Formats: sequence, structure tokens, C-alpha cells
Amino acid sequence: MGRLGAQLNKNSWDLSKLQKFEKNFYIEHPHVTSRSQEEGDAWRRSVGITIQGDGIPKPVMTFEEASMPEYVLREVLKQGFPKPTPIQSQGWPMALLGRDMVGISATGSGKTLAFLLPAMIHINAQPYLEQGDGPIVLVVAPTRELAVQIKEECDKFGGSSDIKNTCVYGGVPKRSQVYDLSRGVEIVIATPGRLIDLLESGKTNLRRVTYLVLDEADRMLDMGFEPQIRSIVSQIRPDRQTLMWSATWPKEVEGLARDFLRNYYQVTVGSLELSANKDIQQVVEIVEDFGKYRVLAKHLQEHNNAGRVLIFVETKKGCDALTRSLRHEGWPALAIHGDKNQSERDRVLHDFKEGRSLILVATDVAARGLDVKDIRMVINFDFPKEMESYVHRIGRCGRAGHKGTAISFFAGKNSKCARELIRILKQANQKPRRPRQLVVYDDNHKDQHAMTEVFDLNKPSQSCAFR
Ligand code: AMP
Repeated sequence: MGRLGAQLNKNSWDLSKLQKFEKNFYIEHPHVTSRSQEEGDAWRRSVGITIQGDGIPKPVMTFEEASMPEYVLREVLKQGFPKPTPIQSQGWPMALLGRDMVGISATGSGKTLAFLLPAMIHINAQPYLEQGDGPIVLVVAPTRELAVQIKEECDKFGGSSDIKNTCVYGGVPKRSQVYDLSRGVEIVIATPGRLIDLLESGKTNLRRVTYLVLDEADRMLDMGFEPQIRSIVSQIRPDRQTLMWSATWPKEVEGLARDFLRNYYQVTVGSLELSANKDIQQVVEIVEDFGKYRVLAKHLQEHNNAGRVLIFVETKKGCDALTRSLRHEGWPALAIHGDKNQSERDRVLHDFKEGRSLILVATDVAARGLDVKDIRMVINFDFPKEMESYVHRIGRCGRAGHKGTAISFFAGKNSKCARELIRILKQANQKPRRPRQLVVYDDNHKDQHAMTEVFDLNKPSQSCAFR
């Protein structure tokens, strides 16, 4: 069997033959017009936003100022949100202008609505779907969990304008997805593999797509989806509007932006350096594998069911084993990982969301995009392989202004992450519990004196916690 997506025809687009379409819907609100550029700049500085690109619109400060039609505004106000989040304030005018954009913004920052509301306005300005048409808006996301969450937001905000959507992802039968596609849906939210499968079998097409969203682009590249993304994008007319979202800005993502976006705006919320949310208290326990379970039990006891706990482990086997041990000792833990079938994953997530089970043990599948309200504690039972995962994992708690605690078990084998971990801890103003010297070994265990801090991994039983 060839590579997934290899069967898709390479399109050569003749723009003069394509039907023209509308993509600029922005009307600057008089309040926004009356503000000076300096006020806009000062606001950006105050919320830590940086921008790049020409003709950057001023941010909007309220939902009313975003010049959204009444039917969209009504739905937003219904949610009772006080005001747009920074990425929405700056992102909405950019997207509504019809320009391509890159948004670098952490999960939990409100980015889903930042791309979804302009998408709804875009759809309402396009001709109705006809028999055999594919979607107008395509959102590509790395995991089924994230895709389902985006769908939930589509359902909430698209209902009043009759915009239909469907989610296509692997691991479940295709029948109901194919059925939805055959009825015609304006928005498709898809993970790359299943979408290609459906494209190759002719169950849908991307000829009508004029608004493309690539969500969590960095994660998709981490997961090896680059060839699939390229195949998918090759099926979409090049004069589309493209919005790319990412929590980080590695070179590979920059490369995708260069290839897929034209004359784009870039908006970054916070620093481009990997940084952790300051509402999360980060605790690092230096403990080798054999001692981890005991330390975990101690933390769970102290936590005493005071809210949801998400525990990350590296492997599916480890995930099941830890869940079994916890249940055996009376902790109501459930497991979620890639080998569970979709209905089981949905049920587990539902029980966790509803608070029927307060402990979820997960592999990285659940690390991104999981928007469960009120996770109080994240435990890295197995320390992640790289620090980007660390930041994303702990970001599952402390969302939307709540406080959270992250506890990470750090063993000698993780020493290559020590230096970056310390930088992240310091940058988030985490204070060592006891002032002590910290040694960071560099990768080849040389040159330790060149470093200012010492993270002493030779004494694994000592708990060095930044608290
Ligand atoms: P996201 O970054 O899209 O995953 O959003 C994180 C959470 O913030 C979701 O539960 C949204 O419903 C919520 N949210 C979106 N916009 C706002 C807002 N303007 N104010 C408060 N919460 C919001």
C-alpha cells in the first residue's frame, strides 16, 4: 500500500477559472476607529501580544466592537463571557479582514472561538452548498479529542444560523461520518488520516473550501502528519483564507506557514520561548522509578479528592498498570490511551468531565486540547520526553484563570531536560522550597561548572521541589 494521500490528484489551479468568493467582512467599529494606534500598542504590551505583518488592524475590546452580525453576537453574549480574550481581541479583526494569519497562543486562551466565529461569518456569505459539495470551512486538528471539542464549540455557536458541521476522525466506523458528509455540511473538523481516507474514496472533496484552519500545527508535525497535511492542502484552492494555530513556533511550523500562507499576519500571545502558565504551581519530585508510586499515593492523599487529577504516563501498558494499581487501592481512576476504542474513550472522558471519576490516567493522546473544566492537579508520573510536552501537559490545569498544581517526577534518566525545566520554573516565578544549589548536567555530563545552577541528580531520594 502506498503512502496515505499518495492517490490524491495533484491539482494545478487556474485562478481565472475559479469562482470568485468574498472573504473580507470587517467593518471597524467607531469606538475602535476613535482609538489611536498608540492605545492599541499599549494594550498589546499590557497583555503580552506581539504582532507582525502589514496593515495590522487595531484590537477590539468588547464583543460588540468585533463587528459581528447580530446572530453571532447573541450566541457569544449568551455564554456570559466578560470580554474577548487577548487572542480574540486581536485575532478577530485579522481573520474578518480575510487575511491569512498565524496565531501563536497556548491552549486555553480562547483560540477556538478566535477562528470559529469569523468562519461562521465567512460561511454565511458564501453561496449555499449544492448536491455533491464538500465543506466551506475545513478545520484540521491533531487528535480526535481536540476535534470533538471544536465540534462542541461549532454546535454552540453555529446552531442559530443553521450551519451544519461534522467531525471525521479515525478509530470509529466511517458510516455515520460518510452519511453526514453526503448530506452536505458547511464545516468539517478532521484529523488528517481519516480525512485523506474519505477524500481518496471520494466520500467528500475540498473544492468548496475557502477557509482553512490548521489547529495545533506544532502538535500535528510532532505526530508526523506533515505529508498528510501537505496532501490535504494540495486539494484546496490556493486563494483560500488560511489560519494556522500553534502553541509554539519551531522551524518546521514556520516552514509550513511559508508554504501555505500568503502575506500573513502573525500574532503571538506571550513569549515565543516555551513558558508555563503562572497560575500553576509546579512541584518537581526527584524520584527514581521504583519510588514513584509511593510519592504519587502521598500526593493523592494530600489532595484528598479536592478536584480532578490528570496523571500522565508514557506507555499504554504503563497507563493500564497504574490505573489497575490505583483502583486496587481504592482510588477511582480511569485510563485513556490510543488502544481504547472510541466509545470507551468517550465514556471515560464523560465520566471524568461529570466528576464521576476524579482521576484520569492518560498517555499523551490526552495531553493536548483536552478541555475539561477544573482539573486541579496534573501529575507527570513519567516525565515527558521533551519540554514542549511538559508545558502542554501541565497546561491541562490552571485554565481560564483557575489555579492548578503540577507535580512532576523527575528521574536521573530525564536529566537532559533539567536545564530547560529550571528555566521554565524560574520564568514562571516558581521558588525553590528550600534554597539549595542546583546542578544541571549537560547532555554529555561535561562542563557542569559552566552552568549557574545545580540540579543534583546523584541524590535521587532527595526531593527538590520548587515551591
Ligand atoms: P480554547 O483556547 O479555545 O480551548 O478555549 C478555552 C476555554 O475558554 C473554552 O472552554 C472556551 O469556551 C472558553 N472561552 C472562550 N472565549 C472566552 C472568553 N472570551 N472569555 C472566557 N472564556 C472563554
